[in-house]
Amino acid sequence: MTSVDRRKNRAGSAECRICGGATYPILDLGLQPPSDPLWPTPSPLVPDRRHPLRLDACRVCGFTQISDPMPPESIYPTAGLEMTSWKNLPQTAWQVDLLKRHLPLEAGIVETGCNDGHFLTALRDGGFSRLLGVEPSRVSGPIARGKGFEVREGFATPPVAAELVASHGKFDLAVAKHMFGHIPDLNGYFSCLDTLLKPDGLLFLEIPDFGAALAAADCSLVYEELIGYFTSDTLRFALERFGYRVIVEHKFTYNGGLIEVLARRFPAPVSPRHPAIPGELADFARRAGDYAARLGARLALLRDQGWVIYVFGGGLRSAALLNGFGLAEHVAALLDDNPAKQGRYYPGCGLPLVAPETLADNPGRKAFLLAVGNENEAKVKRRIDDLFGGGALCASILSPNDRFAELRKLEAGLG
Ligand SMILES: [Zn+2]
Repeated sequence: MTSVDRRKNRAGSAECRICGGATYPILDLGLQPPSDPLWPTPSPLVPDRRHPLRLDACRVCGFTQISDPMPPESIYPTAGLEMTSWKNLPQTAWQVDLLKRHLPLEAGIVETGCNDGHFLTALRDGGFSRLLGVEPSRVSGPIARGKGFEVREGFATPPVAAELVASHGKFDLAVAKHMFGHIPDLNGYFSCLDTLLKPDGLLFLEIPDFGAALAAADCSLVYEELIGYFTSDTLRFALERFGYRVIVEHKFTYNGGLIEVLARRFPAPVSPRHPAIPGELADFARRAGDYAARLGARLALLRDQGWVIYVFGGGLRSAALLNGFGLAEHVAALLDDNPAKQGRYYPGCGLPLVAPETLADNPGRKAFLLAVGNENEAKVKRRIDDLFGGGALCASILSPNDRFAELRKLEAGLG
């Protein structure tokens, strides 16, 4: 993972990270800043590190990916605001139970990209005792270390894997939660796993489900850190191609949709079955652009009528609409309950992030675009009612909700 060089095929386009097929552009959001960290001022930091944000799809297997990503070395060593312990993670108990059904408690487990140690803690609480983390962030890694875990600072590379195996022996399980889609070099990562794992070792992955976003023409998963946009089919194809067989797959609707996969190394190579290319790929950009244009038109009209518009939720999933599709001009501020985000500014558009309570005394009609996981929307709507009374408009803007139905409600003046 030290290089983001992408091989070019004879036609000049980048090669697919899974199968080596030619890729073609399906969505271009232009130059975008890193989504993390949030800015300390409304203006870009100097130097402004904007980078092209473009999704390409493979003509052969359909895998959607950023062919020209920002170098990971420029992102992760200082990343830290999106720490996992802040988030409510209802699927964690299910995950620990799954792993306990497939592994003894004395199994050796390594988590690549362990963040602040949230999942290592859950595994320890579940009875597992031989736990090790690998984490490049100099912000969240030390927090995991402070919880009593051994954490190797750095990316999961073959040399790091060799070092860890020399000191700890081969592992029974590798965990990659929300980092598998961030890997620019899948070949290098699987070489690392080949070193780390026993011949029949297990790999547990949790990744965003791009299939749900495709169905809803939702670009909110698209940001510079997420390089690979897997569906169930392309994930299975990638695992088989690199020598793993899926033994458990499960989906959660949490935070836009998640795919959970437990896979086992298999010794004999098989010819992986090519996935069917999803029909929604062909008009993904057009449908996403249509949605943003209609939402922008409605927001402009609401502003003309005196409404003040806020985005509730200052996470990464707002970036495509605010910056990529230019809707920030209609928005007064982002509301977020995370104290670490309040007082900062959203990268790109420079909108302030504020505590919701600070607006309670502001007069005027308010409209809220809900940029929180669908599972948290009912709670957020109750907060909005408590803080601002019943007259506020609310519209969900994130999938897997039917965003177009929510937009039609907004267009009809309902919320
Ligand atoms: Zn491919």
